[in-house]
Amino acid sequence: MSRARRWRAAWAFGAAFLMLAGAAGAAEKLKVLIIEGQNNHDWKTTTPVLKEALEASGRFEVGVATTPPAKSPDSAWDAFRPRFKDYDAVLTNYNGEPWPAAVREGLESYVSGGGGLVVMHAANNAFADWPAYNDMIGLGWRDAAFGDRITVDDSGKVVRTPKGEGPGSGHGPRHAFAVVVRNPEHPIMKGLPRTWTHAVDELYHGQRGPAKDMDVLASAYSDSGKGGTGAHEPMVWAIPFGKGRVVTNVMGHVAGDDLGAVKAPDFLALIVRSAEWAATGAVTLPPPADFPAEAR
Ligand code: ZN
Repeated sequence: MSRARRWRAAWAFGAAFLMLAGAAGAAEKLKVLIIEGQNNHDWKTTTPVLKEALEASGRFEVGVATTPPAKSPDSAWDAFRPRFKDYDAVLTNYNGEPWPAAVREGLESYVSGGGGLVVMHAANNAFADWPAYNDMIGLGWRDAAFGDRITVDDSGKVVRTPKGEGPGSGHGPRHAFAVVVRNPEHPIMKGLPRTWTHAVDELYHGQRGPAKDMDVLASAYSDSGKGGTGAHEPMVWAIPFGKGRVVTNVMGHVAGDDLGAVKAPDFLALIVRSAEWAATGAVTLPPPADFPAEAR
């Protein structure tokens, strides 16, 4: 074989190998659908951050479904029919008008049939009138009369406060706060520090809902000196819905062009790990190198 032919043969072999490796890699990727289109937060800047983090993990292919803007005619909504069943998990970055019944029923049957759902920040403010959504998120941004409240006491025990008692949903001024892991054996939390300092963010309190089968994965202390409740409020929790898995993470506020809370390595790592767990029931991704260190 001439030198040139040897090079050509080696190049062809290498190219074939890369194509095969690429095909295998693509086949193993999980498909995630981000839903956006209406929000009291700037979804146009947050969705790309979420998409990039999911793709950078190497574990996901990401699609985006954008709803019509507010006050659109029914004909515009008729065109919004996301194909949930084509995806391993759905990540909602949506807080706006009710979806058409067909889309609501589509999400319910997708999750109850084994699909994964991840709900971030104000997406738990949406759909107060949709009972199945309230079951999926467990707790939403609602007033105190809407449903029960869940907190964690100093010993780590989950405490339920009946509807009508205690504060409804709110948050004090944004500040950096400590996140405390409450279920270190859960796949999403395994290998993370037991507590760390999160970025300047809104600390949601007094979330309300049916709160059935809630597995509180992490909480944060809501300091009454900072407009909070003096209680450990749930930050990240998991709920089974039929055969499916739902994770809600109430962190990730965006303030004007300040994307600090959404770009925080801990927030993005939790979103990516939650998407993998919601999709498969397991987490294979290691915590990223830039995850905050254990706090004391
Ligand atoms: Zn917010």
